[in-house]
Amino acid sequence: MTPLSQVEHAVDLRRSVGAWHGGGPIGFVPTMGALHAGHERLIEQARRECARVVVSIFVNPLQFDRADDLERYPRTIEADAAICARLGVDLLFLPTLQEMYPTPPACTVDPGTLAEHLCGAYRPGHFRGVATVVLKLLNIVGADRAYFGEKDAQQLAIVRRMVADFNVPVTIVGVPTIREGDGLALSSRNVRLNAQERLLAPRLHQALGTADHLIAGGNTDADAVKNAATRVIGSDDLLRLEYFEIVDPDTLQPVEAIAGPVLVAGALWVGGTRLIDNCRSAPTSPRH
Ligand code: AMP
Repeated sequence: MTPLSQVEHAVDLRRSVGAWHGGGPIGFVPTMGALHAGHERLIEQARRECARVVVSIFVNPLQFDRADDLERYPRTIEADAAICARLGVDLLFLPTLQEMYPTPPACTVDPGTLAEHLCGAYRPGHFRGVATVVLKLLNIVGADRAYFGEKDAQQLAIVRRMVADFNVPVTIVGVPTIREGDGLALSSRNVRLNAQERLLAPRLHQALGTADHLIAGGNTDADAVKNAATRVIGSDDLLRLEYFEIVDPDTLQPVEAIAGPVLVAGALWVGGTRLIDNCRSAPTSPRH
């Protein structure tokens, strides 16, 4: 195992990665840092499937719709570097703001109707920022395989479609969500939850579980499923449901009558922290 190297400049990254070409697949895991077991799962899978692994840490201002969220976003670079070293990452890319955006970009990626619903409806410009930085990072790194979490289902669907639409020569790999014992999806923002909020936080996962159960059991009426599932969240002064939707997993357009696989996704404010989660569901086919 080679020791972890860290680079700040795209030219240095290209030089290192260029020397690896022909020596087996190169894997890439883009992150915003504050690494946790969810990120580790992505890195471990990349490590298993690729000869070399690159991880990037860049808190991308272009995708933050609220200045306070950007300012409060946790930054733990030293601990992150230690995790990457432990997991056998070959190269850690830590670009500065100046490196990624020497000038504000004139050209950005418009995810179109894929950003109309779910988080996109509540975070104007967020997915334009995500798609733009991911395209830049994919172009800089030139990896064969790039790993993204299913936890951010809308992001994963947009990245998959962008790579197809723009002929980016990379395979996008979706990785299942890592959860706490009570079902809460791991997130860098979970550290902001106080003890009381932490107890309420799994409610979104519970609502998704109810929706999944109803859909698997043959309930085809999306509105009825949403109503029954969101009742599970209950009312509490600390909770505010932002959305709970059932959409087509590829187009991300709302589904009214459930006839095949769907994506059920929600965003729940717990105190001042916004949590997202989702599940894939499908009616169980009747036995013959
Ligand atoms: P972030 O640092 O939040 O931008 O996340 C970097 C990558 O890690 C994204 O592809 C996320 O979808 C993925 N990720 C975040 N949380 C989890 C989780 N709990 N399980 C699996 N993947 C995750």
